[in-house]
Amino acid sequence: MIPTVALNTSAHIPQIGLGTFQSESGKIADAVYTAIVKAGIRHIDCAWIYGNEVEVGQGIARAISSGEVSRSDLFITSKLWCVHHRNAPKALQSSLDNLGLDYLDLYLMHWPVPLNPEGNDPNTPTLPDGSRDVDKNWDYLKTWRAMESLVKDTPKKVKAIGVSNFSVAFLQDLLKLDNVIVPAMNQVELHPLLPQDELVDFCLSKGIQLTAYSPFGSNGAPLLNLKGVKKVAEKHGVEAGNVLINYHVKRGYCVIPKSVTESRITKNTLLVNLDEEDLAELKKIPQEEGFKRFVKPNWGVDLKFLFWR
Ligand code: NDP
Repeated sequence: MIPTVALNTSAHIPQIGLGTFQSESGKIADAVYTAIVKAGIRHIDCAWIYGNEVEVGQGIARAISSGEVSRSDLFITSKLWCVHHRNAPKALQSSLDNLGLDYLDLYLMHWPVPLNPEGNDPNTPTLPDGSRDVDKNWDYLKTWRAMESLVKDTPKKVKAIGVSNFSVAFLQDLLKLDNVIVPAMNQVELHPLLPQDELVDFCLSKGIQLTAYSPFGSNGAPLLNLKGVKKVAEKHGVEAGNVLINYHVKRGYCVIPKSVTESRITKNTLLVNLDEEDLAELKKIPQEEGFKRFVKPNWGVDLKFLFWR
């Protein structure tokens, strides 16, 4: 049974979920069905920009109609994409329609960077120099206000709201808003090469849960080859992937490995009780390898402010 952690709304979220980014079309509906019905996964991480919410929804619908689970057993997250900052209600409805769901358990602001909704591309508009076409006349704090209205005015459509890719500086600004709804979640890149201890401590101290994305280092899973990870895996007689997932379980928050491969989806749910010696071993890895961030889009804004490290 995958353990859960509490959100500041008092809902519980399973610590291991299924990621759906860059999930091959034609495979993702089966992967979602497999995750739910065969691997016992109850937490599915989606986003409008992944362009596959319809197929993810098909996998969810098949799992529910199999009778193995009901909607209330599942925890479904989606995210408001950057070109939709000015229209949160429409963005939410679009994800619900795509997924074929009446409600989301959690809706996240994908990035604190509004993009020009009238730009040269409907999803990722760019400027002539190739950087992202940032909507400088909008402010992500206004987007948060609109997301607060979503949970207040349409609680049947969204149970909790949160953020993604927020550094401490962004969170501090948001938390200064009058009568703010504290985000239930901050979904960020986390793994032994990017432990982000200060951000993790800050979030947990404010009642903001965390979800680790790209736990294997994203496409091709490069972190599986790290020597320190392999050493801990050998000690426990498990695979490197199990160590990379249970690193987050042990640290007390959620993790959402992506896979469309049945054997891996199942394997990724294995619980391994890492101890303090293991965490110390994993903490040493950046001393040799350096820190590394894998998801770093060319926003053309101050990355120092956007990212903590
Ligand atoms: P991951 O770090 O989860 O790595 C995915 C890769 O690992 C795929 O190539 C997958 O292959 C492979 N893999 C999975 N399990 C195993 C295993 N046991 N052994 C070997 N290889 C394995 O990458 P993501 O970047 O996709 O991150 C996970 C999720 O986080 C995303 O899918 C998305 O939901 C979320 N995310 C959120 C972001 C945000 O901005 N909020 C940004 C990036 C990700 P295969 O599928 O072929 O099995």
